[in-house]
Amino acid sequence: MNPASHLLISWTVANTADIPRRDRALVTLSGVIPDMDGVGIIAELLTENTSMPLIWYSKYHHVLGHNLGLGLILVAVVFSLSIRRWVSAALALIAFHLHLLGDLVGSRGPDGYQWPIPYFFPFSTDWTLTWVGQWELNAWPNILVTLLILGITLYLAWKRGHSPLEMISLKADTALVAGLRRRFGEPIAV
Ligand SMILES: [Zn+2]
Repeated sequence: MNPASHLLISWTVANTADIPRRDRALVTLSGVIPDMDGVGIIAELLTENTSMPLIWYSKYHHVLGHNLGLGLILVAVVFSLSIRRWVSAALALIAFHLHLLGDLVGSRGPDGYQWPIPYFFPFSTDWTLTWVGQWELNAWPNILVTLLILGITLYLAWKRGHSPLEMISLKADTALVAGLRRRFGEPIAV
């Protein structure tokens, strides 16, 4: 799935519990960080027509960041940095796995490549995960998921008074919430 969907899905997971801003950011990052193993694409594109092409993207994307080993590291990091440790660590584990699930169902490349996930890496490399029904990265189910999750994100922003924007700018976050509440009215406190 695309990084925006991963971000919004993880954000929604972070909002299933009442945890502070820092914890929400940590949980959200846990569902986004796996794709950091894709930064090799820069080196790959830059060297593609040279005599020494670096195939870091082809080789490491969906390998280094998409496995249980990294998942456990993320959980440990979230546990040590968050305020509501247990809840946040559990949500981070869920967000991380939803990322893998999202990729498993909807990340087939335009060339048909399935980007198998070596789930037990680095403990075992014996088998990798793929799903025969996997759809393409830009296929309609992904677009539908993105729109749906965007709707949920905006609803949560309206209702709870914070959006993913709080991770980059509180000012932008406040403006978005105010805009939504002007448009749809104030949420009724429960
Ligand atoms: Zn991914």
